[in-house]
Amino acid sequence: MQNQKQLLIDYWRKEGIVRNPGIFSAFKKVKREFFVLKEFRSDAYKDVPLPIQKEQTISQPTAVVMMLEALELGPGMKVLEIGAGSGYNAALMAEIVGLKGKIITVERISELVHFAKENLKQCNIKNVEVIQGDGSKGYLKEAPYDRIICTAAAPEIPEVLASQLKERGVIVIPVGPLSGQVLVRARMVKGELHPEKLGDFMFVPLKGKFGQ
Ligand code: SAM
Repeated sequence: MQNQKQLLIDYWRKEGIVRNPGIFSAFKKVKREFFVLKEFRSDAYKDVPLPIQKEQTISQPTAVVMMLEALELGPGMKVLEIGAGSGYNAALMAEIVGLKGKIITVERISELVHFAKENLKQCNIKNVEVIQGDGSKGYLKEAPYDRIICTAAAPEIPEVLASQLKERGVIVIPVGPLSGQVLVRARMVKGELHPEKLGDFMFVPLKGKFGQ
């Protein structure tokens, strides 16, 4: 399994997919095998999405690191994630932002809230808060955020999420219909979002008030 993990690291380095050294350290440290269902443990470092409860998925490792690279994460940041799923992405981000930073991750399915909390506990990760709710509305209580990442596809960038970003803050979100989406990174500058398209992706749908 360690060999498969190293192969992914080598691939991301060679292709220039990951540049932020914090992503490499976090990926080395966090055990993806703790975030997949028991029957899939031996597949933890295959570059594929894997099923979790309630017909949801833990995303493919390469898709995860591409999103994290786009997010321009650094130590001390406060991050909102929409779609906790297994908690794996939150665990990687928690390592990158460190103990002076914080991750708030919102998940709508109670079974997954429980799954994510248990997985994070097993890895002794303390700077992640898992909240049950409709993340398409963001999470006002802890706003504003340095970064917002949405791990499910939205029809457009919900305005309410943009309003919870700090000045110079960045949101990364797949946008588009269920048949296929574009990954978008947008930065808040002087109260206005500046979006750029990063490439085609396929995600599960964002549900809820501002979802599809
Ligand atoms: N980040 C996750 C991980 O590391 O395992 C993978 C996320 S999975 C691809 C997308 C998640 O978004 C699913 O768990 C789904 O239930 C959740 N989701 C979809 N719509 C949501 C909403 N409106 N609010 C919160 N979570 C939502």
